[in-house]
Amino acid sequence: MTKQNTFTHEYACQLDQKDTLASYRIEFYINEGVIYFDGNSLGLLSKRAEQTLLDLLQSWKTLGIDGWTDGENPWFYLSETLGEQMAPLVGADADEVIVTGSTTSNLHQLVASFFKADGKRNKILTDDLAFPTDIYALQSQLKLQGLDPATHLVKVKSADGHTVNEADIIDAMREDVGIIVLPSILYRSGQILNMEKLTKEAHQRGILIGFDLCHSIGSIPHQLSEWNVDFAFWCNYKHLNGGPGAVGGLYVNKRHFGTAPGLAGWFSSKKEKQFDMAHELTPAEHAGAFQMGTPHVLSTAPLIGSLSMFNEVGMEKIRTKSLQLTGYMLELIEQKLKGYGFIVRNPLDESTRGGHLFLEHPEAARICKALKAHNIVPDFRSPNGIRLAPVALYNTFEEVWLTVEKLKQIMDDEEYKKFENKRGVVA
Ligand SMILES: *Cc1c(COP(=O)(O)O)cnc(C)c1O
Repeated sequence: MTKQNTFTHEYACQLDQKDTLASYRIEFYINEGVIYFDGNSLGLLSKRAEQTLLDLLQSWKTLGIDGWTDGENPWFYLSETLGEQMAPLVGADADEVIVTGSTTSNLHQLVASFFKADGKRNKILTDDLAFPTDIYALQSQLKLQGLDPATHLVKVKSADGHTVNEADIIDAMREDVGIIVLPSILYRSGQILNMEKLTKEAHQRGILIGFDLCHSIGSIPHQLSEWNVDFAFWCNYKHLNGGPGAVGGLYVNKRHFGTAPGLAGWFSSKKEKQFDMAHELTPAEHAGAFQMGTPHVLSTAPLIGSLSMFNEVGMEKIRTKSLQLTGYMLELIEQKLKGYGFIVRNPLDESTRGGHLFLEHPEAARICKALKAHNIVPDFRSPNGIRLAPVALYNTFEEVWLTVEKLKQIMDDEEYKKFENKRGVVA
């Protein structure tokens, strides 16, 4: 096939015909005629996730209090059961993962558990492109230990404003740093950090290291245990399609089992002991110790169905298709959108390119509005970013093709000028 052919609609459709994951698309609720490229902000509902939520409601309806211990998915063990099912997605042992809390609350819990400032190591290291909630959490953890975030939160500077150099991070691993918290994938540029390398460097300097997996969970494979990462945390409503406000997850390396939870609650207990109602906590001897109170069961239930899909397919296949989708989109952008003022901010190399693309354009806010008017759902990031996430389980190569064509048309016809260049409340 000649190069030229790859830019045709026909070629995009041929790619879909060859796609071995194509059958999963019909498992999702996709509005007729809508192209949804926002799966890295909120994944779509699948029929399996819907079914497991309905099953959960049914168990409440029919079992009442006995639902905690009876039925197909006893609620008392659900966080552990799902932790086990999630473990392959992060490359961990079953008991190193627990489904609990939210990204932010899990970060609080892990820093409260593993950052013990002393005279020597009293700084937290992160990067200056980190997601705001992570920064706020780290600042408040420092304040709780009587430390000034202005001096004790060290943010590695990005050289280009979009990516972070691993060498700069390693350089900042000084002897006064107690703990490092970094994203696995940067939420804007989609850069993947080399978790294995950074962990090795941190450990050589006696520093603990953890990662925020919000943009990598369900999007790329991980080997957290093999890489020896100390801890990780994430949300389950983005690539994992767990639903708005879905309960999150955390990972603690088994080396740290026995570390007391910094923020304890009765669900930190060893299961057999919890209902002894003692005032002395006996923590679980695994990641479950980092839970706090009663799990948000209704916000966990969709994950049962959703995870079954991920485990059926496996992360390797998901990653392969994801790279094909983003690679194809980059190729089309390069070919068709030259000279329109778009700047691709993703690392182009496959080893450092995550599951979404990030384009910058001075008119980004209203270009996104024009796309939406054409039933294409992008994700606007202030002040000038367009995130596009073609997701392996439900997006198609044809959708990628159609979107780039539409972008070109919006620019050619200056259609975006019909809209105000301003962001909405949630964007
Ligand atoms: C989405 C996201 C969050 C969200 O935190 P919540 O506690 O789930 O609201 C945090 N960090 C990163 C990097 C994210 O992408």
